[in-house]
Amino acid sequence: MSGEINRPEWVPENSGSEFTTYVMEGVTVDENSSTAPNLSFVRKTKLTVDDYVDGILSQNITVLSKAITLIESNSQTHIETAQQVLQKILPHSGKSVRIGISGPPGAGKSTSIEALGYYLCKQGLKVAVLAIDPSSTLTKGSILGDKTRMELLSREKNAYIRPSPSAGTLGGVARKTRETILACEAAGYDVILIETVGVGQSEITVRSMVDFFLLILIPGSGDELQGIKKGVVEISDMIAINKADGDNIQYANLTKSAYQQAVGMLQSATDGWKTLVKTFSALEHKGIADIWTDINSFVDLTKLNGAFEERRQSQVLFWVQSMLEEELKSRFYNSSVISDLKPRIDVEVLRGEITPTNAVSLLLGKYFEKYNSST
Ligand code: GDP
Repeated sequence: MSGEINRPEWVPENSGSEFTTYVMEGVTVDENSSTAPNLSFVRKTKLTVDDYVDGILSQNITVLSKAITLIESNSQTHIETAQQVLQKILPHSGKSVRIGISGPPGAGKSTSIEALGYYLCKQGLKVAVLAIDPSSTLTKGSILGDKTRMELLSREKNAYIRPSPSAGTLGGVARKTRETILACEAAGYDVILIETVGVGQSEITVRSMVDFFLLILIPGSGDELQGIKKGVVEISDMIAINKADGDNIQYANLTKSAYQQAVGMLQSATDGWKTLVKTFSALEHKGIADIWTDINSFVDLTKLNGAFEERRQSQVLFWVQSMLEEELKSRFYNSSVISDLKPRIDVEVLRGEITPTNAVSLLLGKYFEKYNSST
């Protein structure tokens, strides 16, 4: 190692021995030698839009993963390329059954996804597992981050497991997941399972992108005690009480009756479908086939009564609407005229010098004045 010339470019000039990092010189490989690895694919790090499209449509997992990485990127060029890819694969998407799976931590979501996913693979179906995890923005991916939790499923060649995108607002993560669903569908996945924890806003977001919503609970009383918000029961198409095994069976049946009574008093989440309450054991793979039979009945019924297509249509329009609102909001708050003016107006509102309604009119007026003068 020969001193200065091999130091990284970020090391300040004239610095001393406190910076101990060095850049190693690369190794030159004779590409014609028989021991040189075949680097042709790796070398082509920058795929074209058509490379992505062809790779996805020919069900190439490596290209699908790269496309999802592109979808998850926040860089403007990546976003533009991802949109061109998505535009081209759009006609090949939409054919899967999209299933949201929620429940409190420890209810057995991962175990259930593994059991259901494994069962579906054995039925000859291709399964993609995605996640929306609001906590991952802080903790860098707590659900599905640890793939060993789905060891059985991850060995199946027809299963694709992708951890939650770990940065951004819930709105941003939702966009990425929706687009990832489209990519997985174009790559031939028949069933998309989307996991989320049932304790916040994220399950409402997942509900807005799936056909069927499955809530997993454990034997025990009341949803408040299970840390589940009341609204989550109302958006569910099935409540499945897990861990109905060993000494728990009786207790699970009692919980089932309690929830059956409770959902009887609620409006169902989907037109024409009565929310089901079931017991099962993910660990023992018991009741999994029944859950899938019920999901199939749901799909048949809602396709027949129109609720399936109606929901898909309102979901895509809701997606446009929410992105539009988010974009407008961010442009407004990020404009220099608003970031300069708003703190002053806030003070005036607090001092009682201007009414809140007039403050809003003034801010909007200034924003559009600036906007119109610059267009
Ligand atoms: P998650 O946090 O909801 O994803 O829950 P996990 O799938 O990680 O499961 C939490 C714990 O419950 C683990 O120790 C599992 O082994 C256990 N568990 C999951 N399903 C069952 C089940 O059907 N029966 C029993 N007895 N335990 C289960």
